[in-house]
Amino acid sequence: MSTPARPRPTADADSAYFWAKCSYGELYGQRCGNCQTWRWPPRRYCPACHAAQPVWEKLPGTGTIVGLVIQHRVMDPAFSDEAPLAIVHVQIDGTDGEMVLVSRLQRWEWMNASVGSRVTVVLDDSGDEVVLPTFKILHNKEEEVRRHD
Ligand SMILES: [Zn+2]
Repeated sequence: MSTPARPRPTADADSAYFWAKCSYGELYGQRCGNCQTWRWPPRRYCPACHAAQPVWEKLPGTGTIVGLVIQHRVMDPAFSDEAPLAIVHVQIDGTDGEMVLVSRLQRWEWMNASVGSRVTVVLDDSGDEVVLPTFKILHNKEEEVRRHD
């Protein structure tokens, strides 16, 4: 029996740039060109000052887990080969705490994960049309420094 296709996001006018950069292996965030407020998810108008003027910035791709759920029984059969599946909320570095991605950890990374764990983005959903950011645990400071070199 084949595994059903995984649900994928549909890029719209506001998020197309984000998804395009993910497909090139880069994580970008959007902020307001007027007041510098981070906009997540990407949107046409600033929630703080209502200006348009979106500006995109490349992010280091590291962050901190601020929420974690481990699904031992995966609800969507498309993800059954990854059970147990770790769903995470990751506060992305360099965004003043404003950009929190809902994502998943790479397979088996849940075993070392907890709220407060440091993570780095993985952008290599090989073979998929849309590359979703997923994360893996940074195990020590040395590994984190190497990530930023
Ligand atoms: Zn603004």
